[in-house]
Amino acid sequence: MELIFLGTSAGVPTRTRNMTSILLNLQQPTVSQMWLFDCGEGTQHQFLRTEFHPGKLNKIFITHLHGDHLFGLPGLLCSRSMQGNTLPLTIYGPKGLKTFVETALQLSGSWTDYPLTIEEIGPGELFDDGHFRVTAYPLNHPVECYGYRIEEHDKPGTLNAAALKADGISPGPLFQQLKQGLTVTLEDGRMIDGSHYLGPATPGKTLAIFGDTAPCEGALALARDVDLMVHEATLEDAMAEKANSRGHSTALQAAALAKEAGATKLVITHVSSRYDAEGCRRLLEESRSCFANCELAEDFKVISL
Ligand SMILES: [Zn+2]
Ligand SMILES: [Zn+2]
Repeated sequence: MELIFLGTSAGVPTRTRNMTSILLNLQQPTVSQMWLFDCGEGTQHQFLRTEFHPGKLNKIFITHLHGDHLFGLPGLLCSRSMQGNTLPLTIYGPKGLKTFVETALQLSGSWTDYPLTIEEIGPGELFDDGHFRVTAYPLNHPVECYGYRIEEHDKPGTLNAAALKADGISPGPLFQQLKQGLTVTLEDGRMIDGSHYLGPATPGKTLAIFGDTAPCEGALALARDVDLMVHEATLEDAMAEKANSRGHSTALQAAALAKEAGATKLVITHVSSRYDAEGCRRLLEESRSCFANCELAEDFKVISL
């Protein structure tokens, strides 16, 4: 799977950074899914500068209703419809999201031609579709705000076709069931346990995508042992008091959390527009001084895992 950063600025856009939006391309062989996390103004324009298309989105997760995470949503939803896309779309987010979207569509005389579901969420598991489990964790911000933990189920190992053939089992429709580790009965009455013919399972990936937050208790559980943690780093540590009083974190605080949670990799994003390229390098250095495997997100940066 891969993450594509479509916007990495806090509050307002800059010439090089649009406001927050992250695309998660799950790249599954069996389930083609594309998810979006937050949708700042101009996100649909950012899509145009990638190989991806909003028509392929199945799910959008909104962390909170601040404009820099939300104002791109009505435009993206309408364009997605005008372009004739019919794939159903579900949007998850805090209370008020339904009113916001429905009011924007209704007052502007807009609609969607595809099935649109808006689910207002609370803390806890949002769904487990057999491939992925997504859980929302409350964060510390002036408005209701969530971080999302995405846990991929382990993938079964590959089927050893040569061993099956050696045992006189020839390829056929039953192989699909054997691949899932199921037991099947052959025409000659033999019972074959697929799990005996599978290689080792591949552990699923785990990600934590934070919304805006000051350091908070729930953050540790959200980020525990993840392969990738995406966290805001609005300000530098010299401005920790200001950052925290407004419900934000510093680059160093994000790194300290990644370290404590045992994350493998950290990407910091949502940086204040006060930082130019040099300032951003400083934020990254600050973070790396505590947690070495850290990158600073740039618009259109791709992180594979
Ligand atoms: Zn923000
Ligand atoms: Zn915010």
